[in-house]
Amino acid sequence: MRKRWISLLAAGLLIGGVLTPASPALAAPTFKVPFPCNQSWSGQTRSDHSPAYAVDFNRTDDLGDPVVASAPGTVDRVTDLGGTSYGKYVRINHGGGYSTYYAHLNGFNVSVGQTVGYGKVLGWVGSTGGSTGPHLHYEQRLNGSDIQVRFNGTLGLYWGTKTYTSDNGCSSGSGNGTVDTSGTPLTVRSGPGTGYSSVGTVADGTRVTIACQTTGTTVTGTYGTSSIWDRIGSGRYISDAYVYTGYDGYIPGVPRC
Ligand SMILES: [Zn+2]
Repeated sequence: MRKRWISLLAAGLLIGGVLTPASPALAAPTFKVPFPCNQSWSGQTRSDHSPAYAVDFNRTDDLGDPVVASAPGTVDRVTDLGGTSYGKYVRINHGGGYSTYYAHLNGFNVSVGQTVGYGKVLGWVGSTGGSTGPHLHYEQRLNGSDIQVRFNGTLGLYWGTKTYTSDNGCSSGSGNGTVDTSGTPLTVRSGPGTGYSSVGTVADGTRVTIACQTTGTTVTGTYGTSSIWDRIGSGRYISDAYVYTGYDGYIPGVPRC
């Protein structure tokens, strides 16, 4: 809670650390499942598919579900072929000769030339082009030829149907904060709210690791009024209104509980 000038320095150091190691040129990108974090999709491959190594993804009621970039890159095609072939499709150029295709979309959320990162919504699952029902037709290509797909370096299932769970765009980090109550120990709750039972206290000035954040009871504390609660352990939550994290609201990169 509560952004102060010190947090700008901390953020600068963090960004510097993230940017330091460059990926080797021409290495295959780390492709991820082309759907948002934690979603599970059934991916089917079949030898009579065109092209052969493409994957058709489905899940229940998937029409209109968001489709996301499977790796960072530049959008180099946003095309509507009408009632044939791919229908509405997006192609991303990942560099090193690698590209990905997302076909039969219902609509587009990107334009040609746009730089995208993991988890960027490209469009929505549809049934455009030569499709008989909603699904995402997905391809990975190298120098224009389709290749067997890999997610996080692991080869997809050929041939058959397999459930793939996305870690695309998932926040991975934890955050830190310092409890500031001006003296009184802060009550730790079993859930994100004052109605949950007390499971202990943390002393004023305690440095805490925040595994995730969620919305709960609105509390007014040292840093103003907030409905954010910080999970500092299994079944242990404290109100963010009493925690200095360097940020108003949610901490960037820390997942929702
Ligand atoms: Zn297909």
